[in-house]
Amino acid sequence: MRCPYCRNPKSKVIDTSHDSNGNIRRRRECLSCEQRFSSYERPILATPRIVKTDNSREDFNHEKLKRGIGISCAKRPVSDADIERLTGQVEVELQKMGKFEVPSRVIGDKVMEGLKEMDEIAYMRYAIVYLKMDNLPTLRAEIDRLL
Ligand SMILES: [Zn+2]
Repeated sequence: MRCPYCRNPKSKVIDTSHDSNGNIRRRRECLSCEQRFSSYERPILATPRIVKTDNSREDFNHEKLKRGIGISCAKRPVSDADIERLTGQVEVELQKMGKFEVPSRVIGDKVMEGLKEMDEIAYMRYAIVYLKMDNLPTLRAEIDRLL
């Protein structure tokens, strides 16, 4: 933590407290100029980056995921609020994994788990695209399993 007065990187902590949000506040004293200042520590919930099947990486994109789920739910009795809720839920679950990167398949699985409870047709549409269920026997097997 650099001193805001003299930019010296070393300081000592003279007091630590928590604010009402649970963030940590530290009172510090610069080891060089002896000025006092405070620093805050707060947790940052980072969403992991997505590793795609071709091994390229991309940032998690809430809107893009929501759009993908929305397309699967077209003309189905699923509300925008449900789609937003599922998107948010998947994002939070990814954050809770605490990983730097996750395979895109992990997202697909989470979306499908959610869709399965919401709407089976939307689930099947999503599965066809993301599991690349591009042949009838695989589809048939999944439908049989659902029924
Ligand atoms: Zn200083």
